[in-house]
Amino acid sequence: MRILIIEDEPELARHISRALSRHEHQVTAKYDGTEGLRVALAAPPDLIVLDLGLPGMDGLELLATLRRELCPSRVIILTARGEVEHRVRGLKAGADDYLSKPFSLDELVARVEAMGRRGATPKAIDLLRTGDLSMDVQHRRVTRSGRVITLSPREFDVLQVLMQEPGRVFSRTELCERVWRREHEYDTRTVEIFITRLRKKVDMNFDVPLIHTQRGQGYTVREPERPPSAAVPPRSNEESK
Ligand code: CA
Repeated sequence: MRILIIEDEPELARHISRALSRHEHQVTAKYDGTEGLRVALAAPPDLIVLDLGLPGMDGLELLATLRRELCPSRVIILTARGEVEHRVRGLKAGADDYLSKPFSLDELVARVEAMGRRGATPKAIDLLRTGDLSMDVQHRRVTRSGRVITLSPREFDVLQVLMQEPGRVFSRTELCERVWRREHEYDTRTVEIFITRLRKKVDMNFDVPLIHTQRGQGYTVREPERPPSAAVPPRSNEESK
């Protein structure tokens, strides 16, 4: 499994990494909440081992954000002894399992293996993402920056086709064929109507549009290019320490 450890005690993170690597897992460790969240969302691992007390962003907030963003990774939380309340809140926030510190590495490995046996995490293909727009295909749920966007079934279908291949331009005919495939008679102008509705729902209340018209070619969904004003001067390595 691909496993991400988010734990601010470097010694503990190292021990966990070693123990899991020995069992053929591919392990990455991050030491603060903000960075951990970024990595988890960029490429959701199969499993996240998440400490609750973290600098940057605390573990419960991080977990809630992951679930709001429809991150499919399984999560085991690490709680300090006696933090019963945190454990309960963690499970409610979407953790799959927990371990109370101090725990033995053997137990951690056993829990991780058990998690693997529970079956694969929801397939990555069931979760589509473009920028801050997420689509849970299985549950037909769409969120942008954590806010739920309510779509009609057809609106959902059109957006799904676009989000399956972000950046690819779909002509009206192609979109029609994909979405209205069982109906022989369709009017490509219908696509325009759906795109207009999707724009209202997906883009209108946000600064950066994700649905784009490629003049004379069709439509695409793509991540925003960074506006020049947001460009930051390159940081020296020294500064980031
Ligand atoms: Ca900690």
